[in-house]
Amino acid sequence: MHELGIAENIMDIVRRSVPEGRAAAVGNIRLRVGPFAGIVPDSLKFCFDVLSSGSGMTNAVLQIEQTPLVALCRDCGDKSGVKNFVFACPACGGGNLEIVSGEELEIIEIEIADG
Ligand SMILES: [Zn+2]
Repeated sequence: MHELGIAENIMDIVRRSVPEGRAAAVGNIRLRVGPFAGIVPDSLKFCFDVLSSGSGMTNAVLQIEQTPLVALCRDCGDKSGVKNFVFACPACGGGNLEIVSGEELEIIEIEIADG
């Protein structure tokens, strides 16, 4: 279950962004995850909840935003979302695709309450 390792990495990053003693001020943490990042969102949320409540981040909520898979067609240059993992260009039907995005895993926002 590699979600636990990923949750630990996220916790490390969050901890570094929060002033000492302000763990409870951490609110929503927005994460952007591509379909190829190999993440099961529910599993990652579960691991994160266990770790965050154990480190005093009692208000932290992990919000996982899933990004679409984008592929570039080498035949016609069309760049669009691949639907349902069908690897054919939606514009020309060709199968000569290059994955442009879909493997990202990044924290885009950490909300910290004032006060
Ligand atoms: Zn095409």
